[in-house]
Amino acid sequence: MQARNSRATRSGRLSSHVPGQTNWARIVVHELTHREVKTKDHAYEHQGINPRKLGADKALENAGSWAWFCADCAGALTDGVIKNASAR
Ligand SMILES: [Zn+2]
Repeated sequence: MQARNSRATRSGRLSSHVPGQTNWARIVVHELTHREVKTKDHAYEHQGINPRKLGADKALENAGSWAWFCADCAGALTDGVIKNASAR
């Protein structure tokens, strides 16, 4: 039985979290990359951050790309979220 607010992540694990927690974690990573490594905002997630479309040079400098990379490494992104972001 799934706990309330749980969902299957891409890794197949169940992630029990406070709604919006993943988004807040991404925002913190996004802002920290600006501060610590001087990233830029070439594109936000809702605009599409697919490296093939954004270009490798811009993806490496893009704060949103790093935030999503960290979320993906933590297994916090669902297949649907990844598919949606990659389509743009
Ligand atoms: Zn930013």
